[in-house]
Amino acid sequence: MAEILKGKPVADAIRDNLIKDIELLKEKGMTPTLAVVRVGNRTDDVSYENSILKRCATMGIETKLFTLDPCIEMEKFIDILSGINKDENIHGILTFRPFPKHLDAEFINGFINAEKDCDCMNPDNLENIFEGKMDGVMPCTPEAVMEILKFYGYKLEGKNIAVINRSMVVGKPLSMMLLAENATVTICHSKSKNLAEITSKADIVVTAVGRANMLDNSYFNKDSVVIDVSINDAGDGKICGDVNLELVKENVAAITPVPGGVGSVTTNLLLKHVVESCKNNG
Ligand code: NAP
Repeated sequence: MAEILKGKPVADAIRDNLIKDIELLKEKGMTPTLAVVRVGNRTDDVSYENSILKRCATMGIETKLFTLDPCIEMEKFIDILSGINKDENIHGILTFRPFPKHLDAEFINGFINAEKDCDCMNPDNLENIFEGKMDGVMPCTPEAVMEILKFYGYKLEGKNIAVINRSMVVGKPLSMMLLAENATVTICHSKSKNLAEITSKADIVVTAVGRANMLDNSYFNKDSVVIDVSINDAGDGKICGDVNLELVKENVAAITPVPGGVGSVTTNLLLKHVVESCKNNG
């Protein structure tokens, strides 16, 4: 039976350190503040926003909400973002994606003040990761994968790691982070041949395909450590990962659950970036 690598203890450890940091900042008269910029009223965005607001409130992080009309013109949007960029009392900026099609997402990514870019959307911040500079802001989801592996004591040097995803929010930056830890990384995608052959030979498999229960035992071996990043609709009102957990948990060494795995760590990392930005620039 696999060890279940729960996200909660990882998230709690990050939160406990953050609360100490926030107290120290407040003693110096600084309050970490996150600007939340939402265009329109998509249900997913509103529910994520509510959970962020609640978490910030319990930790002593202030929030400023910018709820914008879905028809907002690009010029007006940039005007508002410019104000947030310049506001010395704001340390982090969170935007919900995708933006409505008429807004230029690429321009917006580059326009977000790199120092307040708490989800690593600005290409300058991403570039650092591809240059092997890991001391700046990281994209939260790949960072959550790294934090889980570190928390549970997995050494990465020399390990064969298969990453099934090559997107800019997960697979590519994650592969660079693993490489920086001296792992041997194989990046897999929809055109990869013999996927199961590659993943079943790896020490660690990170998957973010976005397909419910796609991976069965044929993709792993008894020593596999499996990190499932995906959040898929299980079709029964619940969510699930790429890995068929019920089947696979009997036959691998360790696996993250969905829900309760990677996703539970990412939000606390986002808030950590706000606090770091307040420390550095507040
Ligand atoms: P994405 O851009 O659609 O990427 C999916 C990746 O899977 C692509 O690289 C794609 O290959 C690959 N793929 C698709 N079908 C495949 C197949 N049959 N075999 C092998 N590879 C295949 O999605 P994303 O935005 O990166 O997100 C991926 C998943 O992660 C989603 O379920 C999302 O909900 C989840 N997610 C979770 C968090 C979190 O905090 N836990 C955060 C972000 C995303 P190609 O490049 O060839 O198309």
